[in-house]
Amino acid sequence: MSRSKLCCALRDALVVLVSVTLIGAPAGPAHASASRSSAGWPEPVPVVSRVQTTDPVVFVTIDDGWNHDPAAAKLLLDRRVPASLFLLPGAYSYDDAYFRNLLNHGPVRVENHSVNHPDLSALDAAGQRAEICGARDQHLAKFGDSPRLLRPPYGTYSETTRTAARACGAEALVTWTYDLTTWGSDPVPVPRLKTGDIILLHFNGTVTDDLRRVLDAAAAAGLKPAPLREYIDRW
Ligand SMILES: [Zn+2]
Repeated sequence: MSRSKLCCALRDALVVLVSVTLIGAPAGPAHASASRSSAGWPEPVPVVSRVQTTDPVVFVTIDDGWNHDPAAAKLLLDRRVPASLFLLPGAYSYDDAYFRNLLNHGPVRVENHSVNHPDLSALDAAGQRAEICGARDQHLAKFGDSPRLLRPPYGTYSETTRTAARACGAEALVTWTYDLTTWGSDPVPVPRLKTGDIILLHFNGTVTDDLRRVLDAAAAAGLKPAPLREYIDRW
């Protein structure tokens, strides 16, 4: 076997190992035992659409960041929701105080959603790194904290996205279990939430009502919002 073929075979084996480990993850924060690759390429981050845990928790994530509704901030702070905010740098470039306030007074975290919101799977490796590392750098410069989770815009990604994410400091690529954003005139019916569900919302005009419905549904199911980053262990 040539060296390049051996490398590809080892890389494929690692992808399988990470995937299998995620499916069979034990209770508590998700764990994977695959070690970092020492063969010179970034190990792909795992893809997480639902957290394997027996803790009575759900995960609230809110994307983009264009609408800075004070009522949504008040609700997040009053209820101390440890939401993961997958922000675009452009959405805080004109008003970073909104998010600084949330970070300074609540348990939210700012995570990576790229710089320009492209379909990452349509970009080459250099283009993907520019989008992901660029957002990482801008978040770090603005908030003093480096994102550790990547949500690819539209939920679309390629294998290259998973390695680019690792190269840019992410530990997981996070999609979602349910998108409960109100996009039209009527809210999406909220399903019976289950342990480990990842809920997607957006900072849009209905974010406060959407967030309230999700928090009510979680409480009705006996579940508490938990910090997603802490459940994605260091791989
Ligand atoms: Zn988005």
